[in-house]
Amino acid sequence: MKKSFLTLVAVLCLGVLRTLGHGGVELGPNGGRLLEFSKDETLHGEVVLKDGKFHVSVLDKALKPVALTEQTLTVTGGSRNKPEKPKVEKVGDQFVFPALKGDSYLLAFQFKAGPSAKAVTARIEFDASTCSGCQQAEWLCKCPPAKDAKKPAAPAK
Ligand SMILES: [Zn+2]
Repeated sequence: MKKSFLTLVAVLCLGVLRTLGHGGVELGPNGGRLLEFSKDETLHGEVVLKDGKFHVSVLDKALKPVALTEQTLTVTGGSRNKPEKPKVEKVGDQFVFPALKGDSYLLAFQFKAGPSAKAVTARIEFDASTCSGCQQAEWLCKCPPAKDAKKPAAPAK
């Protein structure tokens, strides 16, 4: 899906692109990666990496923090062949789990708003390397990951 947007995003990325969402990467109010935690855009997650741990906040429609009560989060990460399930703890109003080994892996989040709620799954590709386009870590990159750009149309170096 990301790749289908690549050409368009590559073109947009040449300008002063600050708009959210064009690369499929949306950043939250704390500069973290936004996740969809609902089917109707009423709940979001924001993932921030701090001191080797991922912190996940739950945000409402207006991207305001939601207090953690009955919500649960399950995380699966690593490679497709060898997935891991880091232990997720609730610390204040955030879910916290340790970063996995390596600089690049997949993370799948299964969020439940309550015990009887249906789980909503959100996925991100964590990549700690720095993007030459926006100087952000790739997983927080506002332009398409340059190293994924195989098409000649991509302006990446
Ligand atoms: Zn970038």
